Amino acid sequence: MRSPLLAACAASLLFGSVAQAQTIYPIDRAEMLVGARFDFKVEFAGPVDPAKVSVTLNGKDHSEVFRRPVVIVDGEDNRNQASLLLHDVTLNEPGTYKVRASDGTSTREITWTVYATGPRKAKNVILFIGDGMSPAHRVAARLLSKQIAEGKALGKLAIDDMPQMALVATAGMDSIITDSANSASAYATGHKSSVNAMGVYADRTADPFDDPRVENIASLVKRRLGMAVGIVTNTEIEDATPAAMIAHTRRRAEYDRIVEHFFAAQPDVILGGGLANFLPKGAPGAKRRDDKDYVAKFKDAGYAYATTGKQLASVVATRPNKLLGLFNLGNMDGALDRRFLKGGTVWKYPDQPDLTEQVSAALDVLSRNPAGFFLMVESGMIDKYTHLLDMERAVYDTIMLDNAVRLARDWAKARGDDTLILVVADHNHPISLIGTIDDDMAKAPDKPLRERVRVYADAGFPNYPAPDRQGYPARVDVSRRLAIFSASSPDYYETFRPKLDNPNDPTVAGDEKGAFKANDAYKNAPGAMFRLGNLSKLINASVHSGEDVILTAMGPGSERVRGSMDNTDVFRVMVEALGLGASDITGQINR
Ligand SMILES: [Zn+2]
Repeated sequence: MRSPLLAACAASLLFGSVAQAQTIYPIDRAEMLVGARFDFKVEFAGPVDPAKVSVTLNGKDHSEVFRRPVVIVDGEDNRNQASLLLHDVTLNEPGTYKVRASDGTSTREITWTVYATGPRKAKNVILFIGDGMSPAHRVAARLLSKQIAEGKALGKLAIDDMPQMALVATAGMDSIITDSANSASAYATGHKSSVNAMGVYADRTADPFDDPRVENIASLVKRRLGMAVGIVTNTEIEDATPAAMIAHTRRRAEYDRIVEHFFAAQPDVILGGGLANFLPKGAPGAKRRDDKDYVAKFKDAGYAYATTGKQLASVVATRPNKLLGLFNLGNMDGALDRRFLKGGTVWKYPDQPDLTEQVSAALDVLSRNPAGFFLMVESGMIDKYTHLLDMERAVYDTIMLDNAVRLARDWAKARGDDTLILVVADHNHPISLIGTIDDDMAKAPDKPLRERVRVYADAGFPNYPAPDRQGYPARVDVSRRLAIFSASSPDYYETFRPKLDNPNDPTVAGDEKGAFKANDAYKNAPGAMFRLGNLSKLINASVHSGEDVILTAMGPGSERVRGSMDNTDVFRVMVEALGLGASDITGQINR
């Protein structure tokens, strides 16, 4: 019988030798679109003798396959290590590629799949992302905006009313839990990435801009088909999801540089918040660390510019070819604040457009390109409000996403369905709808507020007022509300009530450096209860979770959306619909 100790030693030896072998980017089992650009990198564990190094693809030397001379960098990152890096290479023949990298002592072999596509089916692609949108958000949005009677919804959400549906796995290459950077990057590039990274494989060096890049869909559709590109969000435009469509960096917080990537890529439509990093240092509200004025630069490059909803409408009426709209220094305010409560920064920015107005403006501009367009639309505050345990605001922004999807769907129908529409979350939040919160204390007089949380048959149905024409009930502070709680939290005070003044702010800086504690501002709210968190004190909010997310789709090419998929497959659905690897296109590439 093998002793457990020996087995453990054998396992560690095995992993030890793997750790010594080369790391190759793109990674093992990467699936790549034929002709898409990528950086090829081999990281050797230590210094190498170039004469002994061999890097081959299907047995052919890499310099022959990529038609580039061998460049080995020694002392990478001032460490005793060597690497090989080739920028912007392509593989122009579909098939299986066995990639072998040897330093003369150890060898690593991985496999890539390079795929072609059929002919183009869709003229346009619209990718809607509900950031952090969980099944609970969807159900709550349905209950509030469609209502329910005797257990049957009185209507369908546009996001659910689509012929195709799939579950999408969201893990990144470094973790089972993803953030918005690497999850959006998987949609945009078809490659896995790491937390905080977009458009790159996060390598071992410190520089957040030297990591091996992979081409994104915005670049592909422009380069290959001359299509227009639009990026629309209600978060900062530099934030992870919108940025991942355009930028390449290992560190999503590099907002100044991400603006530069937007400028270099020149998407035809850019609408969102995040003005602060477009403004030169010293300008009111500016966050840039240099003197560059990116609003002026975009204007000089021919972009019409708007900062309010009114301006957006009047600028679009002039039929611009390029459009930049930045409606807030930071994130835009969500639907609940803009329409009803006037909290957040609405006092400062009273005329921020709704996501539906942004989408309508984007469709106006982009649809004038005869070659079609790719448009990404994010309802991004769903995620941010959910981190803050502010479920009402998150649900209202889910309703807003649904309105934007309905608008796009009606627009596509009127054109004869030439547009692939996808609606997906980028990752889940661990929130659940567990019942209602009922203020009728006659059922439990003098009991703590938690006794108002009704479950099973006691939960019954909420009593929000009938929604307005946009699907929003005019009040959230009704006497029987949805009870939605997160399975992850810091220490905080649970008030069991919607926050009517401003978005919830559950934590403040704690006494130890870097730690957080419950925000005392809610301590004396009537009936508030201290809730001991289940997360590290270094975490100030609820966190993402690793469950699959829902993808719904309609239009040409949507038939590939079904069953269980990986987040990298979403990219493949889009490039298949656009025929980005069709033989007529790849034929041109090969020449
Ligand atoms: Zn998040």
